[in-house]
Amino acid sequence: MHYPIKNWQEELAGGFNNIEELCHYLDIPFDDSNPKYDFQLRVPRNFVKKMKKGDSNDPLLKQVLPITKERLNLTGYSSDPVADINAITAPGIIDKYQNRVLLITTGSCAINCRYCFRKNFPYADFQISSKKLDLALQYIQDRTNITEVILSGGDPLLLNDEKLFSLMQKIEHIDHIKRIRIHSRIPIVLPSRITPEFCKQLDTLNKSIIMVIHCNHKNELDNAVEVACNKLRDKKITLLNQSVLLKGINDNAEQLCDLSEKLFTFGVMPYYLHLLDKAHGTGHFEVNEKMALSLMKQIKTQLPGYLVPKLVREVAGAKNKILIA
Ligand code: SF4
Repeated sequence: MHYPIKNWQEELAGGFNNIEELCHYLDIPFDDSNPKYDFQLRVPRNFVKKMKKGDSNDPLLKQVLPITKERLNLTGYSSDPVADINAITAPGIIDKYQNRVLLITTGSCAINCRYCFRKNFPYADFQISSKKLDLALQYIQDRTNITEVILSGGDPLLLNDEKLFSLMQKIEHIDHIKRIRIHSRIPIVLPSRITPEFCKQLDTLNKSIIMVIHCNHKNELDNAVEVACNKLRDKKITLLNQSVLLKGINDNAEQLCDLSEKLFTFGVMPYYLHLLDKAHGTGHFEVNEKMALSLMKQIKTQLPGYLVPKLVREVAGAKNKILIA
């Protein structure tokens, strides 16, 4: 963009969505003879600025650049690896965990991560719509065992403030809800979204808010992210991080330790390190369980226990994530 960016929506709209343009900007070869992907390139410019120019192996670039390996049809990989669709019980509701439900707020993200487990998810059919929101809220209201609503997506923070806070206020009016959890990659990839107005609106909420951000590599954590995290912490938001263990990106002990250490300086506690969910087109990111366990053994010797994330796997049909280490 060649004019001053006024707000996060403009920054979002000005991101890269053309592979050739991104390669040209980063000074790396563009060699895809068929650069059309259903799950297209989408990455904010400020995230791209954290990448090293001329380095095709940059760990941030590899998370977002579509490559032909995604077209391989591998055994064991599917379009819905964690059986989300089977667990849809009301409009926008995924009810698969004990006492917690997920609400699919939107199908959009600020960034399209190539390893995403929902990259093939039919959002148009299943995300919550304003017309059907009452049905979703009634579903939660009727089940007094539900104590936590997890706003998921897509990225919930792509809703505008009016929609997001109206939704959260309706949820917190349900007596048996103790907490609202937001899963978002926005504080990492579009930290300008954490505006003063957004923070002011957080003051209107009465129940505990937990935000699980999603960072895979220490290079994603720059000053703008730190400022966003500080603003959230000032509003008493509990900040946790989940990562996915990704081949060629963070599959070594040094990188994982550096990530935990840096998250801590930003006031974010490491929470989960996920084994890859086997969604079609993600096989080149897989780190096997044996290697993952070996990495965990190494990082446990180097980090205090509170900075060691839990290594987990999501198993279709299970009522909770499966703890591996
Ligand atoms: S931000 Fe999350 S939901 Fe969106 S593409 Fe990335 S991993 Fe998937």
